Amino acid sequence: MENRMQGFIRISKYAGMRNDLAQAGGGNTSVKLDDRVMLVKSSGFQLADVSEDSGYTKIDYRMIVDYFQENVRADRQSVPAEADAFTEDTGKKLLQEAQIEGGRASIETFLHAITGKYTLHSHPALVNILTARAGGMDVLHTLFPEAVLVPYRKPGAALAKAYYKRYCGQQAQGADGSVIFLENHGLVVSGDSADQVIGCTEEILQKIADYLQLPYEACPNATKLWDAFAEIPGLKDKIVYLSENSFLSRNGLAQAVLKEEKWNQAFCPDCIVYGSKRPLFLADDFSAADLTAFIKKNGIPAMICFRGYFYILAESVKKAQEIENVMSFAAQVQAANLSHEMNYLSEGQQDELLNWDAEKFRRQL
Ligand SMILES: [Zn+2]
Repeated sequence: MENRMQGFIRISKYAGMRNDLAQAGGGNTSVKLDDRVMLVKSSGFQLADVSEDSGYTKIDYRMIVDYFQENVRADRQSVPAEADAFTEDTGKKLLQEAQIEGGRASIETFLHAITGKYTLHSHPALVNILTARAGGMDVLHTLFPEAVLVPYRKPGAALAKAYYKRYCGQQAQGADGSVIFLENHGLVVSGDSADQVIGCTEEILQKIADYLQLPYEACPNATKLWDAFAEIPGLKDKIVYLSENSFLSRNGLAQAVLKEEKWNQAFCPDCIVYGSKRPLFLADDFSAADLTAFIKKNGIPAMICFRGYFYILAESVKKAQEIENVMSFAAQVQAANLSHEMNYLSEGQQDELLNWDAEKFRRQL
């Protein structure tokens, strides 16, 4: 039980911290605890904020599966009339009846009822380049012949119906149903473990990136950094967020500051409070020891520079965006001062701004 909860949180954070996979409150995750109960991310919650205590709804998914088997089966003669009876209202009622506890269940809960143990439904930019392109679904079929393809339907009852029929239809032909593409919408991946779901999602994205000849490195590196930091005691619950701010971009002002080896954010209190003492610059082949050595010396970094991109280590996406805001400002101030001498806060003044918890944490390592 505990492990399934951890796996559920893991896939939720994995997708939630990645702008390329889930935007705003989009996307959702689930885990089946037994042959009846499923946890699914609640409506109105951000994926990265899912925790043991909040962000999910407990659902009797068996009730949903039984309903669909009874009423929406693709191979049933009686289907047309009965399937039409599955309207938005019937869908909402079914969801209410199936809800055991927790916040409001998402209308996309139906997408999770029939899939494997762990399920991640995301809205990846790379996938939607093809699901929204004329002829793109055919390309996806060629690239992933095993995948289930679902034509566009309005999210809710209409999508649930089309989804169920396609899923069962293709499963009858031998597909395992672990990968599903939704036209003009996104991707559903399920598997027996959290790592299997993440690995499969990554493989799909890499394959599409190769097909489209698009660079795909900065986003998965956020996940790589996240995994590295999760090994450090006390940092397990943090997220790693790739900055897409233009001033902090590869070609933005930050690069000018970096090139001159002049990145020093210690010119104002907010930069220290939000951005920590200094950014962590990681080599391509960094090791776990590099992370602990940096933390011992400078405390937990907020900004990490890796392979030309900036990543932010924070408690939540919201917090990461606040840090990004302040660091974007810091890059602008520094860049405009490249040919001037700047006055910085002393080490003592910097320490004064950082709280004692951070100090204590540093000494524990
Ligand atoms: Zn969706």
